[in-house]
Amino acid sequence: MENQSNPLLNLEALPPFSAIRPEHVEPAIDRLLRNGRRRVDELLAQRQSFTWRNLVEPLEMLDDQINRTWAAVSHLNAVDNNEELRAGYNACLPKLSEYAADLGHNARLFRAYEEVYQAGGLDQAQRKLLENALRDFHLSGIDLPPEQKARFKEITQELSTLASEFEDNLLDSTHSWNKLIIDPAQLSGLPETAMDLLRQEAAQREQEGWLLTLEIPSYMPILTYADDRGLREELYRAYVTRASEQFPPGAQWDNSDRMERILALRHEMARLLGFGDHTELSLATKMAPTSEKVLEFLHDLARRSRPQAEREMAELKAFAREQGLEGSLEAWDVAYFSEKLRQHKHAVSQEELRPYFLERRVLRGLFGVIERLYGMQVTEVEGVDTWHPDVRFFEIRDDAGELRGQFYLDLFARRNKRGGAWMAECVNRMRTEDCGQLPVAFLVCNFSPPIGERPAQFTHTEVLTLFHEFGHGLHHLLTRIDYPAVAGINGVAWDAVELPSQLMENWCWEREALDLISGHWETGEAIPDDLFQRMRAAKNFQSGMQMVRQLEFALFDFRMHREYDPALGGRICEILEQVRQEVAVIRPPAFSRFAHGFSHIFAGGYASGYYSYKWAEVLSADAFSLFEERGSLDRETGLSFLHNILERGGSEDPMDLFVRFRGREPSIEPLLRHSGIASATA
Ligand code: ZN
Repeated sequence: MENQSNPLLNLEALPPFSAIRPEHVEPAIDRLLRNGRRRVDELLAQRQSFTWRNLVEPLEMLDDQINRTWAAVSHLNAVDNNEELRAGYNACLPKLSEYAADLGHNARLFRAYEEVYQAGGLDQAQRKLLENALRDFHLSGIDLPPEQKARFKEITQELSTLASEFEDNLLDSTHSWNKLIIDPAQLSGLPETAMDLLRQEAAQREQEGWLLTLEIPSYMPILTYADDRGLREELYRAYVTRASEQFPPGAQWDNSDRMERILALRHEMARLLGFGDHTELSLATKMAPTSEKVLEFLHDLARRSRPQAEREMAELKAFAREQGLEGSLEAWDVAYFSEKLRQHKHAVSQEELRPYFLERRVLRGLFGVIERLYGMQVTEVEGVDTWHPDVRFFEIRDDAGELRGQFYLDLFARRNKRGGAWMAECVNRMRTEDCGQLPVAFLVCNFSPPIGERPAQFTHTEVLTLFHEFGHGLHHLLTRIDYPAVAGINGVAWDAVELPSQLMENWCWEREALDLISGHWETGEAIPDDLFQRMRAAKNFQSGMQMVRQLEFALFDFRMHREYDPALGGRICEILEQVRQEVAVIRPPAFSRFAHGFSHIFAGGYASGYYSYKWAEVLSADAFSLFEERGSLDRETGLSFLHNILERGGSEDPMDLFVRFRGREPSIEPLLRHSGIASATA
């Protein structure tokens, strides 16, 4: 395909999404990688000594070209998935990982980087970028003998293909299941918004009735509200067995073998590089110092929160019995009776708050919070080419009117769109003598779409999700670091990267900020004080149970990788069971295959790293405690966070940045206090 006719090549401006076709993907990547290999050879053949300017800068620009194209492709693959695009995407994965592995094994390149590093005269960000690069050469196996290098390369390629297949199986099994309800009586208990959504789902497929799917906007309301216990069980069973041999529609998407293979390859890779196990390899790039420290941290939190989780579970069981539940409280009853108990104790439901969180109002308020804290202005830009009519585009400017970055916002759940919410990079900030570009982000959520003509209204949980992802967005967009590899979220240790996102969630619980983001959709009236008080009181409802659930995931992930033994295999179910015995208060049924859908650790970047959420939550709760001391929308504290954390990206050690903002090392107390968990000193 000709260079000029492929919109994925020479992405100087924003990607022309409407012109990108699946058949553009592979030729574009082929060409970029070919060009990349040639350019690296040229740069290394220079007859002068290597400098930042003649080596690192051009390589950063080269990387950036590939990243821009791949960012557009992987984004489309996630939000507008179809068979052809998926094939093109999957065909590129081994090529990209081969390219990365070849660079990582290029001894001349490694020595050239060392030369630049040793020559000195670098600023902080340049030094950190080179330190990371040299570290990554070691982690890519630069020190290995040739045949082990070849094996290492095979492993990385196979792992990237396995991750993609894992994700595809999950998506396909999710979409293979649905259930049409003809008699609305079967859906008794469901709020009107959920009913409308299910009817719309059916109508979109030209069916009469209410269509249940395994996507979150359908699954959650059923588990939370449906009075029909059998229906809840049916959906629960399908959901927790997706991509497994237990999945009711069939075992054709079973991830079991892939999961075993992924664990085996990760272990082999860690051993090749001289680590004891995969957790040690994972921690080589993280803030947490050792595997023992991580386990100690998780066990300590479990010890402190388990008693409260047990009390909450006992309360829930007693309540369910009072409500007439016969037999034991099963996994598919937990959300249902919890919601009833929440309403009983605090008289507040997600649905009661929904009319106050109109899409337009929430966005305007969110931007208002950003302005108060950081002096940033967000405005919408019309007429930008996107991948769906619902997608909107915004720019962000600072106090001085300087453009800092731009972002796409894709809020609603759709078919062919990956579930969950995330921020992804579209363009990275880069400034060199030859170029200057500002960051662009993708902000993607899966909220309940508007129903008919009625504007979209969010639940408070959805508002929290939006704030969370926007926190990642600010980290990416407001960076002042000029080299992509350490700008924004790049180069930030994974266990520190959730600090800005989790911090943002705190404002969704503060009156001052809430008044900016909410107002009744008909009257504009603020959330009444009594409702606000009930909502605050309900904030820590079952916080012990939520805490041990997160600890269950984190311990499962960490122990599974830590204890892997090639002679015994993954022992996935066995280790999960042991972890549950230690921390869990909800015991899922034997058919549950939770791990088969746990893409964070099998397909995402959280392998031996799920603990990062809790680790970073310690940081974010402690960071927010400074706002609590000085006023939740205090500009000076906001600017300190902006200058010391958000703008610095991955250019410095996260502990140094944190201490500069907070004035000391992080304390675990604010997290326990915010979660309403008494901090036992024992
Ligand atoms: Zn996050």
